[in-house]
Amino acid sequence: MRMCYDQSMRRISTRTKAARLSIRALALTAIFTAALGAPRLVAQEPVKLALIPDRPRPGEPVTLGMTLGPDGVGYNPKARFQAVLINAQGTRIAKAMFFDLPMDTDTRSLKVAILTVPCTAQAGTARIQVEHEGKRVGTIGLAIENRAFVSEEIPLDKANTELRRDEDPQKTAESLVLWDILSRTGTSVYTTGPFSAPVASTRRTSFFGDRRVFRYVDGSKAASIHAGIDYGVPRGTEVRACAEGKVVFARSRIVTGNSVVIEHLPGVYSLYYHLDRISVSEGALVSRSTVLGQSGATGLATGPHLHWEIRVAGENTDPDALLSRPILDKDRLFDKIE
Ligand SMILES: [Zn+2]
Repeated sequence: MRMCYDQSMRRISTRTKAARLSIRALALTAIFTAALGAPRLVAQEPVKLALIPDRPRPGEPVTLGMTLGPDGVGYNPKARFQAVLINAQGTRIAKAMFFDLPMDTDTRSLKVAILTVPCTAQAGTARIQVEHEGKRVGTIGLAIENRAFVSEEIPLDKANTELRRDEDPQKTAESLVLWDILSRTGTSVYTTGPFSAPVASTRRTSFFGDRRVFRYVDGSKAASIHAGIDYGVPRGTEVRACAEGKVVFARSRIVTGNSVVIEHLPGVYSLYYHLDRISVSEGALVSRSTVLGQSGATGLATGPHLHWEIRVAGENTDPDALLSRPILDKDRLFDKIE
């Protein structure tokens, strides 16, 4: 018989303890023992949680570690756990699936979920709720810090205006293909970080989270948020993988030109756009600094540059947050849990 962790199970456990000395409780215990087998009368331990960092800014990833107690008894091993970020108003603003982290030496086991605070999130108290088979099994609090973003206006010429504005079924189809890849949470951990920049140049022409207004040739405007970092490098600059991973996309797209996507951890991807040439194939494993291609101005680009982007559980993520610290520090997570 499978035991499911839920609130009624906890209530039964509390009542059993309080009434342990009464004959009625003994009878109850006997009934349960008969039904479940003696060792299974142990109630499910609540999950233990830790997160890094406790005070993320909008656009930054949060890594959540979780232990289930002895052998994870009481949980359906076939059902995945989900982490949901909920803001002060009670709105669910991001989510990610947990994956099992392979441990090297001992028998400790850790489940990990990595999600990103959306770059449109308001500062304030928030919480991450862990859900299993549709039920809440744990909660941990965090505070979202304040963050200011740059605003910029970008005039587009006729060709780029058409490229951005034209309704094109091919563009829609390409978006769906990419989204299908970026929304996957696999099981492979190719790296734990930190990442390194994809080009040596530090000349940035746009930043993560820039509030952009595109000005079309006819004078009309459209707002968007810049999802990555633009490096103003000349055509032909070598573009390198920011960390170990697997090439899951290496093709030309209408808007982003020659594009490469690398999977680094379950749900964590890096993207490289507008390349002049691609020099890796889909399915290839890459190391940190493997050359992926050369920068260019293919797709919607007002000049040669590299657009470098990170996605975590589908959400645009500030690449700088991955350059400064490992995205998955399992020892620190364990220390914070215990
Ligand atoms: Zn860009």
